[in-house]
Amino acid sequence: MIRQFSAGDQVPEAGTYRVYHYRHRMPHLVNTLLVQFPQCSKCKEKVRFELATISADAAEKWLRHDPDFQDTASGIALRKKASLKGMKRMFLSMLSFCMSF
Ligand SMILES: [Zn+2]
Repeated sequence: MIRQFSAGDQVPEAGTYRVYHYRHRMPHLVNTLLVQFPQCSKCKEKVRFELATISADAAEKWLRHDPDFQDTASGIALRKKASLKGMKRMFLSMLSFCMSF
């Protein structure tokens, strides 16, 4: 079963999602690094998101650059991949530092 997400739900993982609008637009693919799904500026909270497989059709189609989400996504934080990686590295070096004693 494919799980659908609504505006305001947490984005379970960064990646490609299929967006289902209410009456004004055909489903389309987007990529997102947002931590939370935004409302659509036209169909508001009726919009639904579904995790999709990575597809060439979605290349360079960012959710926060989409005209229907540009405004609504502007207040939502992005995942900080780089800093997460940096923290992991710091943690590992701390660990090896402690083990050397
Ligand atoms: Zn919409």
